[in-house]
Amino acid sequence: MENKETTLEKENSKSLNFIEQIIESDLESNKYDGKVQTRFPPEPNGYLHIGHAKSICLNFGVADKYNGRTNLRFDDTNPSNEKEEYVESIKKDVQWLGFEWEESHFASDYFDKLYGYAVQLIEMGKAYVCELTPEEFREYRGVPTRPGKESPFRNRSVEENLALFEQMKNGEIDEGKAVLRAKIDMTSPNMHMRDAAIYRVKKSPHHRTGDKWNIYPMYDFAHGLSDSIEGITHSLCTLEFEIHRPLYNWFVETVGAYRPQQIEFARLNLSYTVMSKRKLLSLVNDGIVESWDDPRMPTISGLRRRGYTPESIRNFADKVGIAKRENVIDVALLEFSVREHLNKIAHRRMAVLDPVKVVITNYPEGQTEELPAINNPEDENSGTRMLPFSREIYIERGDFMENPTKKYFRMGPGRNVRLKFAYILHCEGFENDENGVLKEIHCTYYPDSKSGSDTSGVKPKGTLHWVDAEKSQNAEVRLYDRLFNDADPDGHKEKAFTEFINEESLKIISTAKVEPSLMEAKESDYIQFERIGYFCVDSVHSKEGKPVFNRTVPLKDTWGKLQNRKK
Ligand code: ATP
Ligand code: MG
Repeated sequence: MENKETTLEKENSKSLNFIEQIIESDLESNKYDGKVQTRFPPEPNGYLHIGHAKSICLNFGVADKYNGRTNLRFDDTNPSNEKEEYVESIKKDVQWLGFEWEESHFASDYFDKLYGYAVQLIEMGKAYVCELTPEEFREYRGVPTRPGKESPFRNRSVEENLALFEQMKNGEIDEGKAVLRAKIDMTSPNMHMRDAAIYRVKKSPHHRTGDKWNIYPMYDFAHGLSDSIEGITHSLCTLEFEIHRPLYNWFVETVGAYRPQQIEFARLNLSYTVMSKRKLLSLVNDGIVESWDDPRMPTISGLRRRGYTPESIRNFADKVGIAKRENVIDVALLEFSVREHLNKIAHRRMAVLDPVKVVITNYPEGQTEELPAINNPEDENSGTRMLPFSREIYIERGDFMENPTKKYFRMGPGRNVRLKFAYILHCEGFENDENGVLKEIHCTYYPDSKSGSDTSGVKPKGTLHWVDAEKSQNAEVRLYDRLFNDADPDGHKEKAFTEFINEESLKIISTAKVEPSLMEAKESDYIQFERIGYFCVDSVHSKEGKPVFNRTVPLKDTWGKLQNRKK
């Protein structure tokens, strides 16, 4: 029989993901002297998206768990796409998610060292300058099922290679005319091992090194050796790099440098979303969205502006977990995560998006009251605020029905409904305008039905949100929906993802009336509009005294219902 301890151990290892299992066994065998050093290595060629958030949570998360450290490293080896703006946004996003890097580096900091490694490879007879044209290069490389052919430049002397590489560096050779290649194996079934390119000529200025370099290292060479230089123990990357691993190892082993361990995990794919920086950039450039931080974008900055909390994104990453196989996560899980967190922290407020006036005919004219309202029933320390109440108020147009059905738990002629934190109203009648559109509702109130001290004995049909007609304020409200109306916009052979844009992804409401306290709402506030959804102050369009509220998510998952109805 197993004793208690081994059962416990088993349970413990069951709850570890496969990366944690590797790390624990490395710690046990003292493989890296008990060290855990990870890195998050974005290329500064765009803003980070929710997929990156998963990688950030994983890299920083495991390091935290095992007393390790995490570096932020910008993989900036491709000068034409990289910008300082992206560097700044990436730093901001990582910090906002709640992580602190140990050191921040740039692959470009290592350009001299990397150049040195390349020279070393040449001197070892392990690298050569190849002058095949790009077309010839591809042809010689062959296809996975057929071995490649050796380049005619493969057996140049060390001296000749050194001289040519020097010329590449000095800008004496034009772009596309020469590359430095590793001498590995043109017959390898792994295409990456067929004499991979190490350096290319590129005469673009670099965002950090200016025009110092005319050559730039290729990703595989720079990435593994940068990991090595930083003493990374576990280099975590997405599955598409699995096939690059032999090359990663070849570079560090051949130059005799310290070898980190590359481990691959499944990237995050989300339904109703595209998630490549290149595609997200095209949405910005084509004006389909406002900017990288448009609240409909799956970028971290977009989610922040939409009202997501860092906790909700971290919890989401946790729920998704770490897998070895690709899958697609339903975006509803992300929405669930933010709803779950906001329910705990968001202060409740009253806002009426499509107001219709209610006149309370037995409430004295000129009288006003201030009624206490609880900020958050989920948090007993959240306190209360005062709501003004008087003879005229607004409720949602959709909360009134001329001929209410039995299951309609809102207002209609002859019905009793409660106004949240206020009184029970009895609906006496209504008035339409000349077009037959509801203009005004007439009610009486039960003076002894005040919330908290109700002695009326009246049973209301339901509870409505409302605002005072005179003291409420105008606000703009932006309702967002999914940017794509297809679950896999990227997965169609004949159609581009841009053909699946949801034309109704942004609805601007300019009629909203909100309770006075919302005029003091700040960008950092998380708010629930009672009965409607979670909202935040838009950081771009709000002006002093003219707030714009972004809907983060509706209270309930209406999308799923709508989709079912359409079917
Ligand atoms: P994209 O294709 O969106 O431009 P990328 O992989 O080129 O993304 P990088 O800046 O190279 O972007 O990525 C930085 C890190 O984030 C890498 O380790 C990468 O594997 C990881 N990463 C990128 N996308 C995802 C994703 N969808 N899920 C998990 N990790 C990701
Ligand atoms: Mg990339």
